[in-house]
Amino acid sequence: MNPLLKKSACELADLLRSGEITSVELTQACLDRIDAIDPKVHAFLYVDREGALATAADVDARRAAGEELPRLAGVPIAVKDNMVTRGVPTTCASKILEGWLPPYDATVVELLHKVGMPILGKTNMDEFAMGSSTEHSAYGRTGNPWDLDRIPGGSGGGSAAAVASFMAPLALGSDTGGSIRQPGAVTGTVGAKPTYGAVSRYGLIAMASSLDQIGPVTRTVEDAAALTEVIGGYDPHDSTSLNEPVPALSESVAQVAKDGKIEGLRVGVVRELSGEGYQDDVLEAFNATVEKLRAAGAEIVEVSCPSFDYALAAYYLIMPAEVSSNLARFDGMRYGIRVEPSEGPVTAERVMAATREAGFGDEVKRRIILGTHVLSAGFFDAYYGSAQKVRTLIQRDFARVFEEVDVLVSPTCPTTAFRFGEKMDDPMAMYLNDIATIPANLAGIPAMSVPNAVSAEGLPVGFQILAPAHHDLKMYEVASLVEQLSGDIAGNCPAAQWEEN
Ligand code: GLN
Repeated sequence: MNPLLKKSACELADLLRSGEITSVELTQACLDRIDAIDPKVHAFLYVDREGALATAADVDARRAAGEELPRLAGVPIAVKDNMVTRGVPTTCASKILEGWLPPYDATVVELLHKVGMPILGKTNMDEFAMGSSTEHSAYGRTGNPWDLDRIPGGSGGGSAAAVASFMAPLALGSDTGGSIRQPGAVTGTVGAKPTYGAVSRYGLIAMASSLDQIGPVTRTVEDAAALTEVIGGYDPHDSTSLNEPVPALSESVAQVAKDGKIEGLRVGVVRELSGEGYQDDVLEAFNATVEKLRAAGAEIVEVSCPSFDYALAAYYLIMPAEVSSNLARFDGMRYGIRVEPSEGPVTAERVMAATREAGFGDEVKRRIILGTHVLSAGFFDAYYGSAQKVRTLIQRDFARVFEEVDVLVSPTCPTTAFRFGEKMDDPMAMYLNDIATIPANLAGIPAMSVPNAVSAEGLPVGFQILAPAHHDLKMYEVASLVEQLSGDIAGNCPAAQWEEN
């Protein structure tokens, strides 16, 4: 493997700035790596060789002409396939969008272009971001670079696998119930879901709009901070966008990395987010990291958030309700494929039905049916109404414990990467994977996963940090400390040793 590929995005940025490497050279190295190993990982649904190299050449020319460029200019990135890219296929890993070329760029994509970050391609995911294993992609599964017989998490398994296997130094993901953090945990990468509204959702194909949030997928905390500084900020195209400046995340991360401690840090361990249902080695790794934080001077407090017991149930009512409404736009008229009924009259309604029957996979259909049911007149109060009340209780639990502590911590997910097929016939078992990640989406608070151990089986484990809304900075500081206490995990992914031929 080209040694450049093991470097962090911030290290690469320094090499680009000093002129030791060019963006074309770096981008080509990523593309070569993709050609060599993606046939077995299958992290990408589309590779945009020409587009990426054109951006790289442009950045190199501007730098050579002495132009002052943003820090990450020239550093390549992969983008999850639910963010629209003008003229570049965007499918959400669904058959229904096969062949669709979006006429515009998502705001985050526009920002990457503005900074001059070559977009390597679009990454695989569970169809419309529904799933925890990337097995629900209509275009085939993605392998976990730590063990190709295991899932890379989901829904953003492609982005996580691309970064974990050194095909891309950076990627973008989206997190509705954990789709950045859970893939991060099971692939030994860093993944963050910013405060709701901190990153524009314009051009992110909606799953559940009140929960969706775009965020970084990286191998280091500093890289996640630097990438968030690129994609964050107010966007008039998104009515839920926060009108506040992007915090100086990378500066604080660097400071903590230098100091090796955080003065007066109070850390809450959430009783409901560890214990029963969690794998022993996941809990051991979690407890060991908590002890290291204590030894580094943090005050550790056990806190209780009783309504978290209902978070998964509330999520699986609110999310499908929003899904059923958001996915109504795929009607065979406006985007993607159009399927005519095999017999009988070709009416608008029958074309819609035939298109949706052929275009959507089982999990998407399951959620549309569930969402339609919970929103129906006779059941609305019992299901959707109750779930919204639970959502308020969860927000109150967070508000109460955040009076006592600066951040909360938990394992990111209950298990390490499971084997393909293990949970495909049991949707409930699949849903239970998100038990620790979902509360943050319901409350709109920032949360991130940092690798904190490798299990005896040789699989990475993730440590989750949650902070109050608008306090992403504190979360990044603690993440930086956890990263330091855990040592380099991403760099030890077995994919680094793969032969390329
Ligand atoms: N795994 C969760 C689900 O299936 C989360 C998905 C996501 O965050 N996009 O809904």
